[in-house]
Order: sequence, then structure tokens, then C-alpha cells
Amino acid sequence: MATKMLRFVDLEQRMPHKRAAEERRKDFGEIYEEYVPEAAADQAGRCSQCGVPFCQVHCPLHNNIPDWLKLTAEGRLQEAYEISQATNNFPEICGRICPQDRLCEGNCVIEQSGHGTVTIGSVEKYITDTAWEKGWVKPVRPLEERPESIGIVGAGPAGLAAAEQLRRKGFQVEIYDRYDRIGGLLIYGIPNFKLEKEVVERRAKLIADSGVTYHTNCDVGGATSFDSLRQKHHALLIATGVYKARDIKAPGVGLENIVPALDFLVASNRKGLGDSVPAFEDGSLNAEGKNVVVIGGGDTAMDCVRTAVRQGAKKVTCLYRRDRANMPGSQREVANAEDEGVIFEWLAAPQAFLGDKQVSAVRAFRMRLGVADATGRQTPEPVEGSEFDIEADIVIKALGFDPEDLPNLFDVPELQVTKWGTLKTDFRTFETSLEGVFAAGDIVRGASLVVWAVRDGRDAAEQIEKFLAKKSAAAKSAAA
Ligand code: FAD
Ligand code: SF4
Ligand code: SF4
Repeated sequence: MATKMLRFVDLEQRMPHKRAAEERRKDFGEIYEEYVPEAAADQAGRCSQCGVPFCQVHCPLHNNIPDWLKLTAEGRLQEAYEISQATNNFPEICGRICPQDRLCEGNCVIEQSGHGTVTIGSVEKYITDTAWEKGWVKPVRPLEERPESIGIVGAGPAGLAAAEQLRRKGFQVEIYDRYDRIGGLLIYGIPNFKLEKEVVERRAKLIADSGVTYHTNCDVGGATSFDSLRQKHHALLIATGVYKARDIKAPGVGLENIVPALDFLVASNRKGLGDSVPAFEDGSLNAEGKNVVVIGGGDTAMDCVRTAVRQGAKKVTCLYRRDRANMPGSQREVANAEDEGVIFEWLAAPQAFLGDKQVSAVRAFRMRLGVADATGRQTPEPVEGSEFDIEADIVIKALGFDPEDLPNLFDVPELQVTKWGTLKTDFRTFETSLEGVFAAGDIVRGASLVVWAVRDGRDAAEQIEKFLAKKSAAAKSAAA
């Protein structure tokens, strides 16, 4: 069925309906509704089917975007789904939470001609949500079973993508995670209003249905030794993410009610999942009725301010030391936060935290952007005499994450790390300094994105397969 593409000329860009800020402030539901089928087809039809699709080049998974847009425009959704899932283990998750403005959509040529980008992420989400609804999403069924077993430490997107790819090849796969639920930051970090938890849970179940075994509440380096896993499996993949919260050095930082971002977000996500969370119930990780100050300008900070709004905070202020144009977080998320009533203090950084036992205010400096550093970014510097105070009943520190000290934690000093503490791997083979031990995701890249974790997980799986094939060929020739 031929469908007219290139409709961007006469058809305006339309995102799926976004719930009004006043309404979405009151709950943790996702803020965008689903396209109706006609709207999805129309919006997909705006694509100009570029010969060199920059959207695809700038998608870390190199998704075949023009093809699935064309099939969607033609109403051939099952085929669109098949193409979309061939390169991405979690298309409906990426469609929801990729910062598309910096990746696929940010490089769409029709955006650059002033017509408004094709809404690639929303169409990707629509295709796979429809596939789930219609029962087209099925667990992987390998053509043959293979005897080799692979252990994966970490059930975040990198570990899960690798597990599904390895299972596809018939390997026996076991995942170990210190949390009680599967998904890593997808389940406990990213809030429900960006990614509803059922979306993660149905993926975790699908992967289990394909034959992958989960060991939850399993702290590797704690009760389970890393060495025991090396003995048990033919190969290991470390996909543990980065969890050591960066701290602030300022007087008063040890006062009560100054909390790390992830503690705040995990408590909120656990409440949403129906868990009992004492630190939420006693108010220490609950923003209700409070003046909240969040420090940081990344996606984690945006998630904290918007979570605080939904918990019923009195006032939510975000302090960021650079300006809006230089913040690391997605501009789309900042706009959403502003709509929901968050106050941004750009070019402001904490000087001290005031209070007796508990924090009662943040004293901040105004900043200006000075000369550029070696990376080309202007360094913020305080403006003398510019101090001002912001009332605060709770302060949330969202300054980013560093890796844990894995060689120490796993008791393997030979495991080499970079100067940032991330795992050193061969960039072609994904192998660490330990033979048969591979690594992928944030623990290699540093805090990054879900789509990169999926990409790394898939690539690492391919390299693990090659490693095992080589090993088995060597064993056969030695036996001959
Ligand atoms: P993780 O998702 O961190 O998973 C690692 C897993 O390893 C965890 O389940 C952990 O419990 C487990 N683990 C760690 N150590 C051990 C151990 N010793 N033993 C056993 N298990 C262990 N990215 C986006 O693309 N879009 C977003 O909107 C977005 N929002 C974010 C919001 C927040 C608040 C945060 C913190 C991050 C966000 N990110 C976002 C980044 C994204 O979540 C990460 O880049 C991605 O999850 C990394 O995947 P991973 O598999 O490497 O690690
Ligand atoms: Fe865009 Fe992310 Fe989907 Fe790639 S995976 S097409 S970057 S939304
Ligand atoms: Fe279509 Fe935009 Fe990609 Fe070109 S860059 S193929 S117009 S989505």
C-alpha cells in the first residue's frame, strides 16, 4: 500500500496529548497519552524518508527509523514492530525516556528546515505499546540450547539487554542483582511519571519467560562472592551501574534532612510499587508540605523536583550553577518542570546550609560563567557579595554519581579501572582485565543513558558469544 510520505509540508507536528500541568501535578501517571492510530500514521507520514537519515545515525542503536515510520504511515504496524524490535530490546522504554531532543529527533532534517521534527520517540512507543496490546511481543525462543552458562551482575538495562541477546543464541543465563526487583534504575531510579513501572515489569517477566534465571537480593561482593560466580559460569558480565552519590563540600552539609537524590527517588518509587518505606512514612524522605531545594541540573535533579511537586511540596526550587543553555538535563524536562510550578535559580550554587539540627535554609551565591576549561565549558565562578538565602525543610543533592570501588568490593585487585573508577575494558571486545569477564553500561561509560546501556549490553553479548566460540574451538582442537 503506497502512502504519501513527506507530509511535513502540509501537516503540523503534533505530540500525543500532554495532560495539563495542574492535573498531572496531582498524580504519578505518565504525562503523555498514547496517539490514536490515525494520528500516529499521520505523524509518521511527515517523514521525508531521507537517503542518509541523520535520525538513525544519531540513535545509539541505529534504529531503522525511516522504515518503521513508513510502515506505520501505511498502517502495517506488525511489520513496523518487527523492524523496531530487531535493533532495540526495549523500544517502548526508549520511546518514553530517551532525550530525543539530543539524539534522533534533534537531528531530524525537517526540524532543521524549520518544520518541527518527526515525533520519532512517540511513534516508537506507540508501535511497541500496540504490539504488547495485540500480543505480538513474545519471549525469545532459541533454535538450539547451548551448554555454556553466563552470569550477569546487574539487572539494569545493560544486563537485561545482554541477557535477552545471549538467550536468543541459546546460552544459559543467570542474573544476580542486589535489589529485590528487576530493572535497575528503570524500576527504582526513574519516576513513574516518565516510565510507568508496569512497562518495566512486563519486560522483566518476558525475559524470565525466555528462560533467564533471576537471583534477586543477591549482593555480589557481599554475601555472594565474585569469585564463586567466576567458578560457576563460563563467562561473566558486570553491569552494575554507578551508585556512589557525589557530595557537596559546604558548611552545614551534615545537617539532618539533606538527602541524596537516589534515596529520595527510590523511596518514592517503592511507595508507588506498594512497599512500606519507613523513611517515607516518618517524613524524612517525603516532600509533602515542605520547602524543597534540589541542587543540580541533570535529569536526576529534574526527576527530584517533579517528584517533590507530586508529593505535595509547598515550594520547590532548583539551584544550578550554570545557566539554562548549559545545563546537562533535557530541555523538554525543564519545560515540564516549569509548567508544573518548579522555580529555577540558574547561575546559583550553595555556599552553606543553615540550621541547628535540621536544615532550615540554603545560603547561595550568584554565579557567572568565566573562562572555558579544557573541555570548552565555561567555568562558573561566584559573584562576590551576591549571597541570598532560600528557605528549606529538605535539601536534595543531585550532583551525579561515581562508580563504586569494584576491585575492592569484589576482592579482585587485578580488575583494572580508569582514573574515574569506571571499569577498563577493551573497546572492541568489552572484556575487562580479567579473562572471560566482560563489562557494559554505566559501569564502563559513567552515568549515561538507557539507550546506551542497551547498545552496550547487545554489543557485549555479541563479544561474549565470540569469546565462548573461540574457547570451545580451542578445547576441541586440544582434544583432537
Ligand atoms: P543500572 O540501571 O544502574 O543497573 C545496575 C544494576 O546493578 C542495579 O539493578 C543494581 O542493583 C545492580 N547492582 C549494582 N551493584 C551490584 C552488586 N554488587 N551486586 C548485585 N547487583 C548489583 N536515562 C535515560 O536514558 N533517560 C532518562 O530519563 C533517565 N533518567 C534517569 C533518572 C535518574 C534518577 C537516574 C539516576 C538515571 C537516569 N537515566 C536516564 C540514566 C539511566 O537510568 C542509566 O544510564 C541506565 O539505567 C544504566 O543502565 P545500567 O544497566 O548500566 O545500570
Ligand atoms: Fe530515538 Fe532513543 Fe528510539 Fe533511538 S532508541 S530512535 S534515540 S527514542
Ligand atoms: Fe525522517 Fe527526519 Fe529521519 Fe529524515 S531525519 S528519515 S525526515 S525522521
